[in-house]
Amino acid sequence: MARKVLAALIGNVLGIFSAAQPATQLTQPTTQLVWKQQVEREIRKHDSWVEGYIENDYTNKIEEGHVHLTNLPRKTIDLMAKFGVLGFTGAFNPENDHLLLPDISEKSDEVLDSIDHELWHSIFDSKGKRGLYYDEGFSRPILEEIVAFTKRKVESPEFEKLRDLMKRAEESERVMGFASNISVLIKEYTEQYQLFKKTNEYISENEELKPYISKESQRKIDFTRENVDKQWKPAIDYLLDTNRKLQDLKGRINEEMPLANLVETRKFFTDIYKNLETYEKLGEPIMQYRKTILAEYHSAERKEREEMIKKLQEDLDKLPEGEKLSDEEKEQIQEIIKSLDIDLPVFDAEEINFSLQRMTGGLSRTMRNVTTFSNTYKIDEILGNEDEVMARIVDSLYSLYFGEVTQNKFPLSRADLNFLDRFRMNDVPIFRKGVEKYLVGIELMKQGMSAKEIRGKLEYATSFTFDGREYSWPEANFRIQGTIPEEKIKSEEAQKN
Ligand SMILES: [Zn+2]
Repeated sequence: MARKVLAALIGNVLGIFSAAQPATQLTQPTTQLVWKQQVEREIRKHDSWVEGYIENDYTNKIEEGHVHLTNLPRKTIDLMAKFGVLGFTGAFNPENDHLLLPDISEKSDEVLDSIDHELWHSIFDSKGKRGLYYDEGFSRPILEEIVAFTKRKVESPEFEKLRDLMKRAEESERVMGFASNISVLIKEYTEQYQLFKKTNEYISENEELKPYISKESQRKIDFTRENVDKQWKPAIDYLLDTNRKLQDLKGRINEEMPLANLVETRKFFTDIYKNLETYEKLGEPIMQYRKTILAEYHSAERKEREEMIKKLQEDLDKLPEGEKLSDEEKEQIQEIIKSLDIDLPVFDAEEINFSLQRMTGGLSRTMRNVTTFSNTYKIDEILGNEDEVMARIVDSLYSLYFGEVTQNKFPLSRADLNFLDRFRMNDVPIFRKGVEKYLVGIELMKQGMSAKEIRGKLEYATSFTFDGREYSWPEANFRIQGTIPEEKIKSEEAQKN
């Protein structure tokens, strides 16, 4: 379910960034009262089946009814925002029958707008405690009919444009995902190579220590350096060249690009990515080299000091009788010698550990994370899934949508409305208000009223007179008591323990 992308992202974000610092607060939540009233209005818009089906009493912890509203913890919202996850909508979780409605004033319209969609998911929910669709006393089209109906709907010509658009959006997102993976790899490798260069600079800066390094070690060092150099030279050229091409392509990738070009670009990126993956092995010799050098030069430095101290002692002993030092002077010299003997830290062990860690597995982990965030469109998951198509149909019904086919909303035909009329509880159509309003909407449209005006007139209307007929659309009895509780996020719990 595409709307569940949010829930998946929460899991991802918390899993990946569980050690992250809490972010500075992005937005203030709407006041609880205003938020509750907005949520209530969206739910009251539906027919009376919502009464008792959606829990309204949050003054105790007992879960009554089928659907329980929850909020997203502030900490989670901030954390997600910090990492650029801003696609907040509602999300129904069939595992626990919670309807997650993140209370974010900036995004409240999107969250409220998703309620109609998510309510369908709660009706059609076949997991655990099954939804209204499976209730005794509920008469409705059987699953095969729903599948055939939704299939027919999305195969109509008006969906062609959407398919094309979504395919391109999906592909361009995939390509961008590859592009950012490649950017990360290039950056990592360049940093590793910098470490190699830094090590060589360290050697030239400490030329005077060379005599204290054995010929054997010196040969090994030179050999390793040449080897690393030989392996990295072509890699570095390739990285620079790839980076140039990447920057150039990145500027041109967008959803407007024809699908064939996008696919071609992705293939090109896939090859680069495969090449770059093999470079992961190149990091290890650099780290080994750096470790050896720092250890060798560290001990060379020690040897140099020992020699200096020895020489100083010898010089002192050689002083002629008349120039021998006083006790006080001797003490001062001892102090100087002692200070020379202090081991100065010449390298930072942490730096090495960090770099090694990054290389062993760390890099592949980074890559996986980057890929997880791409591919949010998934055309087949939406148009090939009767549950998602139905959710969009019900959403379009209650949103009185008369526009073009889009990813989340479709215009409805009379045939669609007849189909919706077949969902009945004790022979009362559960979508009565929606269907009647939409039918009136179709007529008003014919008379030349704009879609926006129709929606404004009908969406929350409780009665209406049209064409000599009086419509009665009473609000469902739904009033939230107490405070919508915060959703318990699993990884957060684990973090506390
Ligand atoms: Zn959905």
